[in-house]
Amino acid sequence: MKIHEYQAKEIFKRFGIPVPDGKVATTPEEAEKIANELGSPLVVKAQVHVGGRGKAGGVKLVKTPGEAKEAASKILGLDIKGLTVKKVLITKAIDIKDEAYIGYIVDRRSKKPLVMVSAAGGIDIEEVARETPEKIHKFVIDPFYGLLPHQAMELALKLYNDIKLVRKAADVILKLYKAFISVDASLSEINPFVVTPDGEIWAVDAKINIDDNALVRHPDIEEMRDVTEAEKKELDAKSKGLSYIKLDGNIGCVVNGAGLAMATMDLIKKYGGEPANFLDIGGSSSPEKVVNALNILISDKNVKSIFFNIFGGITRCDDVANGIVEALSKLTINLPIVIKLAGTNEDEAKKILSQTELITAASMADGAKKSIEIAGK
Ligand code: GDP
Ligand code: MN
Repeated sequence: MKIHEYQAKEIFKRFGIPVPDGKVATTPEEAEKIANELGSPLVVKAQVHVGGRGKAGGVKLVKTPGEAKEAASKILGLDIKGLTVKKVLITKAIDIKDEAYIGYIVDRRSKKPLVMVSAAGGIDIEEVARETPEKIHKFVIDPFYGLLPHQAMELALKLYNDIKLVRKAADVILKLYKAFISVDASLSEINPFVVTPDGEIWAVDAKINIDDNALVRHPDIEEMRDVTEAEKKELDAKSKGLSYIKLDGNIGCVVNGAGLAMATMDLIKKYGGEPANFLDIGGSSSPEKVVNALNILISDKNVKSIFFNIFGGITRCDDVANGIVEALSKLTINLPIVIKLAGTNEDEAKKILSQTELITAASMADGAKKSIEIAGK
């Protein structure tokens, strides 16, 4: 789960990482009021779940509360990479002498936490990684011992020559590790990590992604959830016992089991089609789940055909068939449905479906090909 910069900064504060004072506003008037309280100069920053806000016009430096109001009115409602800005963070501006990068991720290769530091901070770190990878210093952490103080010092020495700064940065590197582990983050970064002309240090930007599977342990962070329209549908599906992820294609898939769902999507791709979604209706499926699943798919305007791929194990094919018949009577479905059923109670299911106009497929491949052909028409 992604959280906003202002929320990540609240977490940073708990762990003693220095962040500039700030508050969130949803209107220009509110932004002006906060600016009056904080004192100038200030920065007005779009709060959306993407990076590169600066380049997109979502970060503005201002000198007065009036300017803060004006900047907020420009940024609120702005579209940044497909996301609409609904909140801005008003924060005290920091005098920047130097910008560095400090970040943690869970490294898939070593299956351990990985810390990265770079003196080339401020800009897009992915770009640095692509063009000048030698400027990024990485260190894999043994999770049993955690990051040790001398290791943090060694990393900080890659950033600065001044020993006072090295000590301050090492302290932040250690605190960020503690935050990263404590909140079960999958990523946590400071970019830019700033040094002022007076030698003060500040986390000017903050990013934390939380491992979804660990959210049960962090109800306070769960409360920070801010869902986009696409995510709303996914959460709604989850509450109905379905795993749904929207994709960009035009073939809606309804499958039981995550593995079969992946295989179905692979097959659609193999034959030149594009799946509109991942949708797992789960192990033991009731007719109600099928109705809910179809409801989700028909609300996606991109979907041109639907491919049901059901392997009856614990899931009974007749349950799914009844669900489809129920859905066809309850909902107005103008989309062609291709169906492949195999396994438990397959014959009963076929009998039930013989009264419908569904297109039956002899095999998974046949089903994938048929749904692609129909969607393309
Ligand atoms: P991002 O573009 O989404 O990563 O947003 P950032 O918070 O990193 O801001 C982008 C850039 O705006 C930074 O790299 C800085 O150059 C600049 N910036 C942000 N906050 C301040 C500030 O307090 N003072 C100054 N001088 N520049 C800032
Ligand atoms: Mn940044």
